[in-house]
Amino acid sequence: MEKVTKFDWLVVGAGLSGAVFAHEMTKRGKTCLVIDKRTHVGGNCYCEQYDGVMMHKYGAHIFHTSDKQVWDYVKKHLKINRLGSYAPMAMAGGEVFALPFNMNTFSKIWPDVRFPEEAKKRIEEQSKGVKDLETLEGAAISQVGKDVFEKLIKGYTEKQWGRSCAELPAEIIGRIPVKFDYNNNYFNSDLYIGVPEGGYNDLFKGLLEGCEVVLGCDYLRNRTSLDGLAKRVFYTGPIDALFGEALGKLDYRSLEFDTKIRDLEQSQGCAVMNYCDKDVPYTRIIEHNRFAPSRRHEEIVVSLEYSKPYEGDAEPYYPVRTEESKERYEKYVQLSNTVYGDRVVFGGRLGHFRYFDMDEVIRDTLGIVEGLDNE
Ligand code: FAD
Repeated sequence: MEKVTKFDWLVVGAGLSGAVFAHEMTKRGKTCLVIDKRTHVGGNCYCEQYDGVMMHKYGAHIFHTSDKQVWDYVKKHLKINRLGSYAPMAMAGGEVFALPFNMNTFSKIWPDVRFPEEAKKRIEEQSKGVKDLETLEGAAISQVGKDVFEKLIKGYTEKQWGRSCAELPAEIIGRIPVKFDYNNNYFNSDLYIGVPEGGYNDLFKGLLEGCEVVLGCDYLRNRTSLDGLAKRVFYTGPIDALFGEALGKLDYRSLEFDTKIRDLEQSQGCAVMNYCDKDVPYTRIIEHNRFAPSRRHEEIVVSLEYSKPYEGDAEPYYPVRTEESKERYEKYVQLSNTVYGDRVVFGGRLGHFRYFDMDEVIRDTLGIVEGLDNE
């Protein structure tokens, strides 16, 4: 770094949390230097063109929320149309099932089940005797019954997280909606659902206006020069990495995407298809064209999503919140309080070590800013 300027805030990470934070601080007359080790802004929401199709580079991102303030906040900077619904599908044993689990799924798995009460009764029968509701396996069977668990959850989840459902925390399955109606809308409990046809990049362009942004800059490798540039740090990277994993590594799961072109007749017929069988190496296929339905294309751009262990240079995509890693995370928070006091503030998915959807990241970051306003 050649330029020496004094900033109020050094924002580490130009993802959603860093961008919202920098935007709010700039609005309050503070100066922000935003850095990211990647060569683009947007974090995991970043989109880029592939063969003329705008693709979500780090996996399909559907914006959904019931928080009108958050929806309006996004709409200020992004042309995003409200979608009626979002309906991914699941492939298992050569058959296709509706997601999230709803009456279309239950009546296909159990052809004698037609009505909600019949499905609930079957689930109750199949979950009798399940005791350990703390594990994903126990919680899932109690929510959808043994057959749905075996066919649509077990293989997919074990590929996704690289460990047995009996070892994974129930918290993960808590995120999957289960509905007793014939409605395939994944987010029907949310008031607003949308995907911007032009991708998410405009949101970041708008939010980061007026901030100094330096890309391809890893905070951990340049700390000596960066720390002197700002009074305080807003850090959205992995908290354990900030301390050189001094208290041990936190668990994350990584991903890899294999993007390719397919002929139109090879369309899977939906934007996202989950592949639930354990012997299929990928977890999902995303058909990017479907996020821009008004545009005509000669070909389809698809990404095959593979789940990977977090090792070597892999990116930490999903925090794995076992009891052990949650305890370790708390110890890192205490360590930070001791070492940095209020000089370093943590934000986002990695800074808080929890799975946040985009709306939750925005809400959480706005809350952090409000807290700082009251300091
Ligand atoms: P990030 O987007 O990860 O940004 C953090 C940034 O910090 C990164 O750009 C990183 O490069 C940078 N950074 C880290 N360490 C350093 C360092 N040392 N120096 C400099 N920079 C650093 N949410 C939804 O609402 N709907 C969805 O459909 C959805 N789908 C998803 C699918 C996938 C596959 C994934 C992984 C996430 C999905 N999400 C979805 C969640 C969404 O991506 C997050 O809520 C959001 O991106 C989190 O923003 P963030 O700023 O916390 O983190």
